[in-house]
Amino acid sequence: LKPPGSLAHSISDGHETRVRHTYGRNYRDVMRGFRGDFAAAPDLVASPASDAEISDVLDWASRAKVAVVPFGGGTSVVGGIEAEVDDRYQGVLSLDLGRLDRVIEVERSSLSARIQAGATGPMLETQLAEHGFTLRHFPQSFEFSTLGGWLATRAGGHFATVYTHIDDLTQSIRAITPRGPWESRRLPGSGAGPSPDRWMLGSEGIFGVITEAWMRVRPRPQFRVTATAHFANFERAVQSVRALSQSGLYPSNCRLLDKREAALNGVAMDGTHVLIVAFESADHPLQPWMERALELVADHGGVCPKGPRYRERGERGDAEDGAGAWRDAFIDAPYLLNVMASMGVIVDTFETACTWDRFEELHRGVIAAVRDVMKETCGAGFISCRFTHVYPDGPAPYFTFVAPGRFGAEIDQWMTIKKAASDAVIAHGGTITHHHAVGRVHRPWYERQRPGPFGDALQAVKRALDPGGVMNPGVLVDPDA
Ligand SMILES: Cc1cc2nc3c(=O)[nH]c(=O)nc-3n(C[C@H](O)[C@H](O)[C@H](O)COP(=O)(O)OP(=O)(O)OC[C@H]3O[C@@H](n4cnc5c(N)ncnc54)[C@H](O)[C@@H]3O)c2cc1C
Repeated sequence: LKPPGSLAHSISDGHETRVRHTYGRNYRDVMRGFRGDFAAAPDLVASPASDAEISDVLDWASRAKVAVVPFGGGTSVVGGIEAEVDDRYQGVLSLDLGRLDRVIEVERSSLSARIQAGATGPMLETQLAEHGFTLRHFPQSFEFSTLGGWLATRAGGHFATVYTHIDDLTQSIRAITPRGPWESRRLPGSGAGPSPDRWMLGSEGIFGVITEAWMRVRPRPQFRVTATAHFANFERAVQSVRALSQSGLYPSNCRLLDKREAALNGVAMDGTHVLIVAFESADHPLQPWMERALELVADHGGVCPKGPRYRERGERGDAEDGAGAWRDAFIDAPYLLNVMASMGVIVDTFETACTWDRFEELHRGVIAAVRDVMKETCGAGFISCRFTHVYPDGPAPYFTFVAPGRFGAEIDQWMTIKKAASDAVIAHGGTITHHHAVGRVHRPWYERQRPGPFGDALQAVKRALDPGGVMNPGVLVDPDA
């Protein structure tokens, strides 16, 4: 596949570039990489430097029937950036937003910043810090993932309550669709019909390319407090998190690790379940909030041997307690996953959310289903659970599984486990994803979860914005439907 001469300056068919844009970062992607299987490599990689260049690429791709896969940081864990297309397409072009990486404008009075979609977490935080602001959206993939990727997948970040998804930090979005530019008005809130931003959030590249957004930023926190509580009983720990989530205190962190998760991450090796609670503010000290939170913890049998740790104005360091150990493990975990995969261990995570009334059954059912399938498929296995985010009406449980792989069969084994886990999540009333997105991997379960007419409406919107059907075919909707 050759691009037209007018676009050649920003499009490459270089071998290494194509390899680097082939897969995301889930277990199957890592294993295909180890095996040297890059069959799904795109034919071309575009690196546009402006909206006009993106428009030109989309015009050509629509006319030439070339699939376009928007590429941010490539950290998708759901097959979001690989396009294996059939012969109705001339080929695949990966459209890398990496050259659009700037904070263009900061508007202090409304605490807003206009940021280009290709900026990675560290890039945008460094530029915002020059103005004393932060977006404070820290997904575990923060180092490599981008603003555009977060918006396109409705990523979940740092805050465990209230501002859990990137949606909550979004003021307006600009995108280039095959039908032309799409830009919403900057507004703090609006009741004017269905929200254009809500159509773009979670669109996973099927409507167009998000090129920039006005985001809600905030002053950097000056006051922080963290406490680590231990529970002998998991059910009581869950009740304590429910009480916290319904207390109106809205902690910035409220992460419950079951005893296996706590041990796996070196946070507690004594068989206790661990709850990390934190508050932060740019404005005021936090004693009353933490004191009330610890009362709720104690009411449910939690003990906090080291007490809360308060920090003010840039003071660092909580590495001595569970919270510090957890933070270090959280940052290291993805690297460790790759090492374990290289040693023949099947290791992956999946996540969901459900209402509190369904949690106990979902938790029991999912763990039993995954244990059974790991035993059948791998002979043994380990599964742990933590809460990444909590709401007054329910938690977002996140599961990690580890099992011995059989050389050469690991990908099939992984798929069998993944299918059993996804079936169990949907059967017990959960969502197929709280923040990892749908992509190609979760699509069968997403189709079971969403209302039928909504699926038809999604197809119709896609047809209106992308009449040639070239934008990320296979993600979210069935391209053949
Ligand atoms: C180790 C690890 C930890 C993770 N932790 C988290 C976490 O804590 N929270 C979380 O939410 N997710 C997490 N993820 C998943 C992933 O990082 C998120 O889905 C992230 O939002 C993807 O961003 P990205 O820039 O890498 O996008 P990519 O992976 O490049 O793309 C993801 C999807 O978005 C589309 N897309 C990307 N950019 C654009 C754009 N500008 N316009 C239109 N479509 C676009 C792509 O086509 C694709 O469908 C994790 C992944 C890994 C590997």
